[in-house]
Amino acid sequence: MGRVRLIDWIERVRSIIRPAVDIRFSIQSNGILIDEDWIDALAAQGVRIGLSLDGPRRFHDAHRLDHKGLGSFDRVMDAIGLLRSHPRGPEIFSTVMAVVDPSVDPSEMFDFWQEIDVPGFDLSLPHANWSSPPPVKGDRSYGAWMVEFFDLWFDQNRPDRSVRYFENILRMIFGFPISTDNIGGRPVDVIVVETDGSIEPTDAFKSCFDGITKLGLSVQNNAFDDVSANPFVRDFQVGAKALCRRCKRCDIVNECGGGYMPHRYDEATGFANPSVYCSDLMLLINHIRGRVCRVLQHEGLMVEA
Ligand code: SF4
Repeated sequence: MGRVRLIDWIERVRSIIRPAVDIRFSIQSNGILIDEDWIDALAAQGVRIGLSLDGPRRFHDAHRLDHKGLGSFDRVMDAIGLLRSHPRGPEIFSTVMAVVDPSVDPSEMFDFWQEIDVPGFDLSLPHANWSSPPPVKGDRSYGAWMVEFFDLWFDQNRPDRSVRYFENILRMIFGFPISTDNIGGRPVDVIVVETDGSIEPTDAFKSCFDGITKLGLSVQNNAFDDVSANPFVRDFQVGAKALCRRCKRCDIVNECGGGYMPHRYDEATGFANPSVYCSDLMLLINHIRGRVCRVLQHEGLMVEA
């Protein structure tokens, strides 16, 4: 789109909608085109930036290649350096997002995070489902990997270091709302307008099968209210009410909520299944519950029923 056109678009959208809605703009970027001019322009508009970075060079470059087949690690690190040294950097940039890869040692990943010194390090499970299971990598399961990473973060006890995935689980254990849809069975109220004007569910559903997000709706022909009448959209808007029997009876349904909806997909049964990461989520959430209970008991803050 280019910088000038994007900034013009942001200003136009804001001027049209702002009296009614206070809009927040944000970009999730692979970081390779971020330079000083982009940072100046985005900072002037208050656009927040998140960068995708899968860990130390040998792991990041194994996953993220450009069109020439070259790894992007150095360019992402340059972008992080530029953002961190910009006067408004802390305001617009605070988080990198990594896809969990159990073949990376969790302590190496944690040390890498400390080295890059970015306040937020969010984790995402690889997109997978019952018909397209997650790749098995390394000796640890995804759950065991996240348990080890959680302990490193929890024991560090630095409130200025955030892992949103874990913080969301902690928030749900204490009954607080969360703002993401990748865990917890919250009704999904996110919709995507693609660059051609198509109105679609979030991109993660594309991992289920080709064309799943094509609803036949567009900003040219439809009002946003038309979207909520679509049966597929209604399914993910009801959140935990659409869970399978096993999830509804699960001890940790309030925290897990069947995990991320695209991860429940099976080509034979649709979405009425536990997450393909069920055992990983069970391990992680029970571990976090246990650690929190022990801390509260130690502090004398937990009253036995
Ligand atoms: S842990 Fe498994 S059974 Fe329980 S809510 Fe999550 S996906 Fe469903």
